[in-house]
Amino acid sequence: MAVKPKSQSTYVRDNRSPIPLNETVSKYMRSNKSKNTKPEMLFRKALWQAGIRGYRLHWKKAPGKPDIAFPSKKIAIFLNGCFWHRCPNCNLSLPKNNQEFWQSKFERNIARDKEKIEALENENWEVLVIWECEMKEDLGQQIEKVRRLLNPTIQNK
Ligand SMILES: [Zn+2]
Repeated sequence: MAVKPKSQSTYVRDNRSPIPLNETVSKYMRSNKSKNTKPEMLFRKALWQAGIRGYRLHWKKAPGKPDIAFPSKKIAIFLNGCFWHRCPNCNLSLPKNNQEFWQSKFERNIARDKEKIEALENENWEVLVIWECEMKEDLGQQIEKVRRLLNPTIQNK
């Protein structure tokens, strides 16, 4: 078993994330922007190309400010990064260092996501969560899910 170098001791700055100690964590952390992340940009581009319009981004009037909201249809979409939102499909392991920090951080993220969805559903919104890995796997299929939600009558076409 490898001995941990001293440099990997816990280092938490206030409430912020610890300094990433490996490239994977570092990469994930760089992608932690709440707005206009790359998957979100790709998704919006794909929506546009599919001719889907009429959505608002991070609409403040909807509970939880969903990434994408169709106000007239009360449909909300969250585009979740697998690392930060703890994707059930990917089931990523905790970063090796500062596990306590990450554990509580992720628990807060998951709780917040759940609250947002519940708040929306309480106001009769329909909520769709699309994971980053699903987008990577088949973006077209995710756009199709949105289309079906928007137009339930064309479901079987
Ligand atoms: Zn995933």
